[in-house]
Amino acid sequence: KIPYQRLPEWLKTKVPVGANYARIKSDLRGLNLHTVCEEARCPNIGDCWGGGEHKTATATIMLMGNECTRGCRFCSVKTSRTPKPLDSNEPENVAVAISKWGLDYVVLTSVDRDDIPDGGSEHFAKTIRLLKKKAPHILVECLTGDFRGDLDCVARVANSGLDVYAHNIETVESLTPYVRDRRATFRQSLKVLEHVKKIKPSLITKSSIMLGVGETDQEVMDAMKELRKIEVDCVTLGQYMRPTKRHMKVYEYVTPEKFEYWKKVGDDLGFLYTASGPLVRSSYKAGEFFISSVLR
Ligand code: SF4
Ligand code: SF4
Repeated sequence: KIPYQRLPEWLKTKVPVGANYARIKSDLRGLNLHTVCEEARCPNIGDCWGGGEHKTATATIMLMGNECTRGCRFCSVKTSRTPKPLDSNEPENVAVAISKWGLDYVVLTSVDRDDIPDGGSEHFAKTIRLLKKKAPHILVECLTGDFRGDLDCVARVANSGLDVYAHNIETVESLTPYVRDRRATFRQSLKVLEHVKKIKPSLITKSSIMLGVGETDQEVMDAMKELRKIEVDCVTLGQYMRPTKRHMKVYEYVTPEKFEYWKKVGDDLGFLYTASGPLVRSSYKAGEFFISSVLR
């Protein structure tokens, strides 16, 4: 049984500030773009939209609707077996809107669409191609699902002209059946990341792990080593936060010192960067990290 735990001080968040943040936010009005940053009320919005030392503003956009065919126990996105059909104008509309917005780095993500034969991979790829054509200076990361292990779908996205391919393992191997939808497996996720590197070695690959769901230190270490073994370049680690009472419980609040320890482990294992902290999310300051670590 998991005892009741109060939210520790380090997870109580501040109000976003900063000139760059204000500019990016006002530019967003009228573009009809839906960001995960705003919709999920992400606590990092000031840091990400504001950019850091390199003034590299990052935002995350969700494609393919807001209903997912899967139901992971940590995720607040609505589940539906029959989500609305894809909007065929979305790739063009999103590409136009992003290219007009003052962003340097964009993360395109989506719900999982197991109802579509190609999992929406062509929709993803088209959005990236159009965006890169309109705004070649914007760095593009995609964060995709596992496409049910269909490597042709993975290749379609990997070859679309993006800069970073992210796919999250989310948790350690033993907890995967409990944390993620039963169709997602740890090994399948590793295969996705491995395939990207195999077909396009120049592409930066990235994955993310949530802590505080009951994993042991040894299991986190093993998961990080598995990622390095298949040459994943970047890793992020953050605290799992329960979106509502219907979602799985937090097992523990991992301390900032422990996150610092995992950062050091990641650096020692040779990741290009390891973003590790209680509030870190998969796309946390992705542009800043890219500029300071990958383009170094
Ligand atoms: Fe947006 Fe991701 Fe940054 Fe949150 S962590 S503000 S979702 S880019
Ligand atoms: Fe949420 Fe992604 Fe799982 Fe769908 S596949 S429920 S969007 S984490």
